[in-house]
Amino acid sequence: MPVCKFAPLFASSKQAKLSDEYAPDELFSMKQFDLIIVGAGIMGLAHAYHANRAGMSVLVVDRSKHAQGASIRNFGMLAVIAQSEGKQMSDALRALNDWQQIAPKAGVDLQRSGCLVLAQHPEEQAVLEEYIASKDNASSCRLIKPSQLSQFANGVRRDKLLGGLWNENAWKFDQRQAVSKIANWLQTKGVCCLFSTEAELVEPPVVKTSNGTYGCNTAIVCAGDEFSTLFPESFMAAGVTQCELQMLRTHPQPTGWKLNPFILGGLSLPRYAAFSECPSMADLKLMQEAAYADYIKHGIHVIACQEADGSITIGDSHTYTSDSQLHRSDEIDRLILNELNASVALPELRIDQRWRGRYAHLPGTDVLKLQPADNVWAVTMTNGQGMTHAFAVAEDIIRDITH
Ligand SMILES: Cc1cc2nc3c(=O)[nH]c(=O)nc-3n(C[C@H](O)[C@H](O)[C@H](O)COP(=O)(O)OP(=O)(O)OC[C@H]3O[C@@H](n4cnc5c(N)ncnc54)[C@H](O)[C@@H]3O)c2cc1C
Repeated sequence: MPVCKFAPLFASSKQAKLSDEYAPDELFSMKQFDLIIVGAGIMGLAHAYHANRAGMSVLVVDRSKHAQGASIRNFGMLAVIAQSEGKQMSDALRALNDWQQIAPKAGVDLQRSGCLVLAQHPEEQAVLEEYIASKDNASSCRLIKPSQLSQFANGVRRDKLLGGLWNENAWKFDQRQAVSKIANWLQTKGVCCLFSTEAELVEPPVVKTSNGTYGCNTAIVCAGDEFSTLFPESFMAAGVTQCELQMLRTHPQPTGWKLNPFILGGLSLPRYAAFSECPSMADLKLMQEAAYADYIKHGIHVIACQEADGSITIGDSHTYTSDSQLHRSDEIDRLILNELNASVALPELRIDQRWRGRYAHLPGTDVLKLQPADNVWAVTMTNGQGMTHAFAVAEDIIRDITH
């Protein structure tokens, strides 16, 4: 592990409240960085990456021993397929480019696994057809007849399906390991990462943590769905809340059995902006509200993907709340598994793991960027696609700070 090198503090002319508590010689002796980032999830690390590239000295602090937030609880999916044309898509492609640069250097296995969206109902099939009709011939997606589905994914119940949409634009990485590996790699590039270190007060030129006080010109808070400790009034004023999700993982499938792509069901279609302009979307929603009322109540849609050990990660539900739920729900798990089983027959159905994750939620926005104090940014993804977008969001913020 590389050793962090700390530069001396050069006292800034702008003195915030916290810095007034320190004598000039105390300030001068503090370890100083151009930028201090709170949070070592994907958002914090993406900012660290771009700041490091811009020549800034960077300290990242995280309260956990290892990142434990949404960035390790997801599907490990770069969901380019889910983006609407325009800014969403160009940001996702920009971020993908960063992942492709970083992954081989950081030892993250990034695979273009593709995605198969399955249609059980005529309304779903209609949306898929309209989506394809809106694309040019050179696009990376196409409609698949039921008889051809098994060429793309194993276990697919061809007899129960009307067809599918194949899209190459989905990438898989190991979500449990990726952020740790990226943090380790960033440290070899000179970024300092302090874990088990809680940021208690963020008032540049001073940031007070549970592990000492540090100096900086700028701070960026990338605390995910944690709004209660730093700048709670700013988050409250922005109206951001939380979304809680339930996830499952099977026992490893039999040796050699490969699902291959990400599998998405028809309940995913209304959740992704990519399909929102399809004329049949209104009919699809009406059908789902009638036929899938229990699923809609819990915000359930089905995504399945295979991990390196052969297990299948399956999700998820969406509960929008500002209070964490006390209990996981067996009923939600049952519904998720039922819906997957309607279109895919997994050889191994035993569930080994169940977990919950949370992300920040603000309807109608992809990302929340706040400036709650002088020289402080607070940045959090609010659309549940931070793994796909973080590097592009961070690139823009660092450009704003450095220009
Ligand atoms: C179940 C689930 C499935 C998902 N699937 C996908 C997917 O497949 N593809 C996709 O693109 N996105 C997906 N997402 C969304 C994505 O995971 C999130 O948008 C992203 O991980 C958010 O990253 P973050 O760095 O903002 O937050 P987090 O990963 O939550 O990191 C925040 C960090 O801040 C730290 N922290 C908070 N407060 C402090 C403090 N005061 N001091 C120090 N440290 C602090 C925490 O310890 C934590 O490590 C999914 C999310 C969930 C929950």
